[in-house]
Amino acid sequence: MLGIQSNMTPVRRATVDSPHFKCRYCGKQFVREHHYLAHKCKEMQRDEELRTPHGQTALHYYQLWMRTMKRNPPSASAFLTSRYYRTFMNFVEFSKNVDLPKPEKFIWLMVHKDLPPTIWTTDDAYTAYLEFLDRKTSPMDQASLSIETLIAIADKHEIPLSEVFTVLTAQDIIHMLRTRRLSAWLLLFSKKFKHLFANDTNIDQRLIIENLIRPEYWGDKMDEHAEDVKTIKMLVAEMGI
Ligand SMILES: [Zn+2]
Repeated sequence: MLGIQSNMTPVRRATVDSPHFKCRYCGKQFVREHHYLAHKCKEMQRDEELRTPHGQTALHYYQLWMRTMKRNPPSASAFLTSRYYRTFMNFVEFSKNVDLPKPEKFIWLMVHKDLPPTIWTTDDAYTAYLEFLDRKTSPMDQASLSIETLIAIADKHEIPLSEVFTVLTAQDIIHMLRTRRLSAWLLLFSKKFKHLFANDTNIDQRLIIENLIRPEYWGDKMDEHAEDVKTIKMLVAEMGI
C-alpha cells in the first residue's frame, strides 16, 4: 500500500507538468501560458497571411491551377501545407507588379505549355504569354478588353466615356499597350487617341507607341478581318472616342 502511494508522487507531478497548451497550427505543446501566447511558428504566420486579400488570391490561383489540370481543387488547409504555397504567393506579387492581364488565361496557358508554377514569374513565361495573347486573342476580344479598360478608367474618374482620353497620358497608354489592356484594334479607330498621339506626346513616346502598335502590320491584319473592323468602328463611334 505504502509502496504504491510513494509511487504516485512522480505520477502526479508529471500530470502538473504535462503540457496544457497546444499550438493548433504546428502542434507544439506548452506548459506555461505565456510561452504559448508568445509562440509564433511558420504555420501560424502562413495562416494569417492566407487570410489577407493577397493570400486569398493566391489560394484562388492555386485552386484554378489544379482545376485546369483536371484535379480536385484543394482546400485552404491543403494549400497552407503545400510546397507551392510560397510559389503562388510570389505569383500574386508578380501579377500585380507587371499588371498581368487576365491571370486566369495565363494559368491556362502555363498548364497547356506544361510549365510549372515555379517558372511562371520568369521573363520567358511572361513574354510567351503576351505573344500568345496577340496571336490567339481575336480582334473582337482585344477590342472588348480595351473597351472594358476605358470604361473602368472613365468610371474611376467619374467622367463620360467620350472624355476618357482627357485623363490619360502618353505614359498611361504605353503601359496599357504593353500589358495588353489596350489594343491597336481599338486605338487605331479612335479619333481622340489619334489627337492625343499627335499633340500630347513627345518624340520618344511616339516612337514607343508606334513600335507597340506597328501600324503597317495592322493594315494587312485589318483587311483580313473586315467584318470585325466594321463592328469595332461602330463601337468606337458609339463610345464617342
Ligand atoms: Zn505553432
